[in-house]
Formats: sequence, structure tokens, C-alpha cells
Amino acid sequence: MPKSDLVLLALDDAQILKLFERALAAGSYKVSIARDKPAIDKVLQESSPALVIVADQFAGTDGLETAQELIERFPTMPVLLFLHQEDVAILRQAMHCGVSDCLCPPLKIEDITTTVERSIKRAYRIGDWTRREVRRTTASLQNRVKELIKLETIINHIEDGVVILDENRYILMINPAARRAFGLRQEEDLIGKPMLQVVSHGDLRSLLNPATSEGMPHHEIVFDDGRVLSAQYTSIPGVGMGITLQDISYLKQIDRLKSEFVHNVSHDLRSPLTAILGYIDLLDRVGPVNDAQREFIQRVQISVQSITALVNDLLELGRIEAGIDGQKETIPLDTLIRDTVEDLKGMVAEKRQRLHLDIPAKVPEIRGNPIRLRQMLDNLIANAIKYTPDDGDVTVELERQEEQIILRIADTGVGIPPADQLHIFDKFYRASNVPKGVGGSGLGLAIVKSIIDNHHGRIWVESVLDQGSTFVIVLPIFKQQDTPAAQS
Ligand code: ADP
Repeated sequence: MPKSDLVLLALDDAQILKLFERALAAGSYKVSIARDKPAIDKVLQESSPALVIVADQFAGTDGLETAQELIERFPTMPVLLFLHQEDVAILRQAMHCGVSDCLCPPLKIEDITTTVERSIKRAYRIGDWTRREVRRTTASLQNRVKELIKLETIINHIEDGVVILDENRYILMINPAARRAFGLRQEEDLIGKPMLQVVSHGDLRSLLNPATSEGMPHHEIVFDDGRVLSAQYTSIPGVGMGITLQDISYLKQIDRLKSEFVHNVSHDLRSPLTAILGYIDLLDRVGPVNDAQREFIQRVQISVQSITALVNDLLELGRIEAGIDGQKETIPLDTLIRDTVEDLKGMVAEKRQRLHLDIPAKVPEIRGNPIRLRQMLDNLIANAIKYTPDDGDVTVELERQEEQIILRIADTGVGIPPADQLHIFDKFYRASNVPKGVGGSGLGLAIVKSIIDNHHGRIWVESVLDQGSTFVIVLPIFKQQDTPAAQS
């Protein structure tokens, strides 16, 4: 037993005090005496007693209350209550409020020393256990903190922008690259702020809008200064979402140069091709040709025609990408759909397919170029028919969702393998499962994508191999304030 433990006696009865002093001296304890409450505070300020003994009647106050206050202020210091006479109700109350033990007359020296010793020992044991636990938890916390700091350092040094948002789109973390990308000051405290309030950008708004980002993990954020960021959105269970941003401006620039080159080459090819076709037409007029020659001429004609179609597609794509789209008008999309379907009826009948239209009675108008939008519908619906076997179904569905029109073109055709789905909007790309004998240049969907981009819309595909594909197109609804006249 530690011999030099200090015991504070908060007792004012001279006789009892003497008895306790004798008992504590016998146990080799040091003793401090407080005869009123201010004296208790003084001792506690100047020293750290190992135990306090409080009398139930103490300096005209309720000793149990004093004991309770001491326990609340010093939870690890044991407090003993001395009762002038045994009272079961007070004993119960004392135990309830955390008093270590109670002493009642008749008191023997031995009883006092054993109770004091037991209480102090228990307090030491609790203290040791608490220290061990604190050390253990602190060590594991320190490790966690170290890991977190390491992770934060890594994220802060990544060249790509990283933003973590909670489920309500409030910022949990934003790294320096993301701040640079959005032109935000590095030192500004953004944690806990709504992302869309900090960065008000239309492309980011649609990325964070679940109604429009559905099925579109990749978005492009285009800035007025020409920069283009590729934004990837990942939902993080239990946290919210993560957005990674990659600057793809230089890739866009290379793509532009490549498109210009292809456009120029296509342009230069068109005149000789027209000349070839013209002369082929003239061949049998300048002299008789035999059957074999006629067949060869026909083959040349078909080949030149397909090269011409390809060159025309490329030139068309170049024009769309360059934004030379002519005047935009306010258009009812349903009329365009009905016209397209009418034109493709022959193709549908030939394959004994069923074409379903699901268009609401009142469809809001959109603003766009009717020729380009027709071209988009032609390509998508013709593809649905082309890549669906005989007797299949093609469905064209239109619906309004808030400020957008959602167009779905679904078929029960061959589907697109997941690995190909990422690339089908690229120029010249054809999926690995294109059925034998189904021709195409792989330019149709690239044209479609460019037209939709020019109309501030988005397109994606949902497809299951051998079951069918659904192309989903989202286009903004025309609002009166969108017209240039209304803006000026
Ligand atoms: P293509 O001239 O080959 O039809 P597109 O650019 O129109 O070129 O389409 C690109 C590729 O996407 C196609 O070759 C085909 O593999 C795939 N594809 C497009 N639409 C569908 C569809 N409705 N069902 C299955 N595959 C499709």
C-alpha cells in the first residue's frame, strides 16, 4: 500500500475527526482537514488527495450533496460518506450517486483503515485500466490519423481534381487540382458548403442531377476559356459521391486537328469521285460493252457509290462538329419522329417487325435544327431496325421530365457487348457482334452524338447482349427566354 497517500477529511465533528485521524495515522496516511466547503476547494486546488471522506452533516450542509458534487468534478477520486447514524435510504442514495463506500457508527479503527485502503486500491486499479485503455485507443487513433494524413497528402498531390460530396451534395473534400480547375482560391474554407453554390456551372449541375446523370458516369465540363474537363462520377455508399476531373483540353485540340484533316481529305476526294461516277455512267454510251464488262462496271459503280456515301458522311460530320448548323427553330419533336417512322415503314415491313410509338398527346417543343434532328432520328431508328432480326420489336418513346425531353429508342435486337458500349459513338467504330452481311461505316452514331452535343443534350446506351438495346436521349425543353430575341 502506498504509505504517503493523502486523505482529505471533510468533517467538522471534533470527536469523529479525532477518531479518523487516529485511524489514518495508523494506516500511515497523510491527512488534510476541511471544516467547510471553501476549505475543501482550497485543498483540492493545492493537492491531489487519494480519497475524500465527507460527513453526512457537514458545516450546516447536506454531506451527500457535497459528495455528489465532488464525484462529478473528480470522477476518478474515491469519496467515502460518513453517516452519523445508519439510514438505509441515505445508504441507497449514496451508492446510487457513486460514493465508493459508507461508514457508520459504531466505528472501529480497523474498519476505517480497511475501508479506506479498499477504496483507494480500487481507484488505483480503475486508474490503471483507464490509462491502459487510453494508451491503446490513442495508439490506434494515432495510426488512423497517420493513415488519413497520408491519404490526404496523396489526394492533394494528384494532378487530377478530386471532389467528395455527401448525399446532399455538400463538400466533404476538394483537392487543390479541383480548386484550380474551377478557379477557386486555395485557402478558402469550402468544407460543408453546397457544391453547386460554390461552383455554378451548367455541366456540373447536370452531372449532379440524378434525373439527368442516370447511366452517364462520364461528363464533359466545358469552360468559356476553351478548357474541357472530363468528369467522372462515382457513388460512394455511406458517404455520398466522388467526382474526379481530368483536363482533356489537349485531347480535344488533337481531336479537332484530326477532324479538320479528315474533313479536308474528304473534301478533296469528292470531286474525283464525282468524276469517276460521271465517266462510269458514260461508258456504255460511247460504245457497246459486253455482259462481263457491264457486270464489272456495275461493281465499280457500287464501290464508288459506297465510298462517296462515306465521304459525304465524313463531310457532314465535319460540318456538324464545326457547328455550321444553320438556323435553329422551335420544333415539335413528335412530328419529326412520326415523319421519320413513316419513311422507314418499308424497312420495318420488309423485316416483319413491329414498330411501336409511345408519344404523349402534348409534347413540349425543343429548339434545334430540324434537318439535323431528322438525321439523328433516321440514324437511331434505322439502326434499331437494322440490328434487330426479323419479327422483332422497335419502340420509340417520348416523355417529359422536368425541363427536359427524354427520348428512348428501344429494340429487341442483337444488343451491344459491354466492352463495345464505351466506343460505339466513336468514328468508324463497329461493335464486335455486328451480324454478317449488315453493312455500315460506323459513322452514324458519331454524327448522332455530334448533333445531340450541338443541341446541348446527352445520349447513352443501355444494352443487353442478344436481348436488345435502348438509346436514351435527353434534350432541353425550349423556354421562351432561350430565344436570342428574348435575351437581348
Ligand atoms: P454502322 O454504320 O455500323 O451502323 P453506327 O455508327 O450507326 O454505324 O453504329 C456503330 C455501331 O454500334 C454499329 O456498328 C453496331 O455495332 C452498334 N449499334 C448501333 N446501333 C445498334 C443497335 N440498335 N443494336 C445493336 N448494335 C447497334
